[in-house]
Amino acid sequence: MKHSEEQSAASIDDTPLARELADLSARRRALADVSVVLPTSPRVMTVSNQKGGVGKTTTTVNLAAALASVGARVLVIDLDPQGNASTALGVPHTADVPSVYDVLIDEVPLADVVQTSPESALLTCAPSTIHLAGAEIELVSQVAREHRLARALEEYLRTASEPPHVVLVDCPPSLGLLTINAFTAAAEVLIPIQCEYYALEGLSQLLGSVQMIQKHLNPPLRVSTILLTMYDGRTRLAQQVADEVRNHFRDEVLSTVIPRSVRVSEAPSFGQTVIAYDGNSAGAIAYREAAVELLARDAAGEGEES
Ligand code: ADP
Ligand code: MG
Repeated sequence: MKHSEEQSAASIDDTPLARELADLSARRRALADVSVVLPTSPRVMTVSNQKGGVGKTTTTVNLAAALASVGARVLVIDLDPQGNASTALGVPHTADVPSVYDVLIDEVPLADVVQTSPESALLTCAPSTIHLAGAEIELVSQVAREHRLARALEEYLRTASEPPHVVLVDCPPSLGLLTINAFTAAAEVLIPIQCEYYALEGLSQLLGSVQMIQKHLNPPLRVSTILLTMYDGRTRLAQQVADEVRNHFRDEVLSTVIPRSVRVSEAPSFGQTVIAYDGNSAGAIAYREAAVELLARDAAGEGEES
């Protein structure tokens, strides 16, 4: 017993865990020194994938917080009636709170519903409430039903004294009118892809929808960014999926990969992003790297190809 303890103590620097920790602190130091260039005009990105549970909301809120942590002003628009993004950002969204519903249905200015997250003065959120569940149907009979969010956002960006550098729209897991509103309001689509077996299933449907929106409603829209999430480096499958996605979407996939991490999944139950909850965890560091990469790609004009 004693003997084996000594043995493991002697070899502790050489364990995968030790290597991972050393790697993590090197990455943390690199992030501390990084400098970013903020976009000169707002980048509006919709985080979309019609599959549920692939990490859309997790990516939206953690990327938003990570962007804020490097000095970007960020607005999150929560378009999912479940309101998970609002929860994770610590923003009240009970039924009586003015929300994106009022913006879409009653033409309330976006500025009237935007709240600041307790996490950072740079981080704001237009919350979703339960009323949004009915909006999908109510929108059908509205004038300019596909463009309501786009109009509200344009007005907001035009009139805000300090407009956000980045707007992230968290979409529900469907391709209904709420998601269409997100697609017409944005110039960029960010697709989170879970590194699992069925990850690519349904992707062609999503790309088809983006093409249709481009053609009929919003020509500038493009899939600018793909982020691999819930990556488990111990499985061959995760690596295979990642390789396959990289082969298909060479220019769009960020080199940063978000690992599967308990800290990431715990954070929302504390009304926090992982950046605030455990900013030095592997998940937080990965999201901060993704944020830096996202800003660098814009500055370099990468992913421009259509
Ligand atoms: P979506 O918005 O696409 O439905 P979510 O962001 O809500 O997906 O994520 C689905 C579930 O997976 C949630 O329980 C979330 O906490 C968990 N999850 C997301 N990303 C990670 C990760 N990197 N590590 C561990 N769990 C994750
Ligand atoms: Mg979600």
